[in-house]
Amino acid sequence: MAVERTLSIIKPDATNRNLTGKINAKFEDAGLRIVAQKRIQLTKAQAGEFYAVHKERPFYDELCEFMASAPVVVQVLEGEGAIAKNRDVMGATNPADAAPGTIRAEFAESVGENSVHGSDAPETAAVEIAYFFSGLELVG
Ligand code: GDP
Repeated sequence: MAVERTLSIIKPDATNRNLTGKINAKFEDAGLRIVAQKRIQLTKAQAGEFYAVHKERPFYDELCEFMASAPVVVQVLEGEGAIAKNRDVMGATNPADAAPGTIRAEFAESVGENSVHGSDAPETAAVEIAYFFSGLELVG
């Protein structure tokens, strides 16, 4: 399987509860390498642009408010099949459906405030990584 990079975000519900280290341990234990990482505060407009694909969904406004409500940690994870592997480590969108041991099963508060974001395909990973990081920040 090819080595991939994927965009991960530790969301405000998790940064608020000081869970960055516990979540990063899950990535590293799964063999995902954190090759870039920064803690930033998104504006609602920036969150809206990132989640533009969900513009027509009923929860879009709530999602943008939430993502701008506190700092987030944006990161690039690298590894064999990193995109699917990260989705496995994250667990299902709704924590009620997330498999035991996944980040969302252990830490998420609700379907909206679900602790982490992860890219869902190579094309979206490339666009999402470029939204937050320049080539110079990806040191491997
Ligand atoms: P993901 O790829 O597992 O993050 O899920 P989606 O791409 O379907 O949704 C993007 C994000 O929108 C989720 O991670 C949630 O934060 C949020 N979201 C999805 N469904 C709902 C919902 O029914 N209500 C609310 N408030 N937020 C939702």
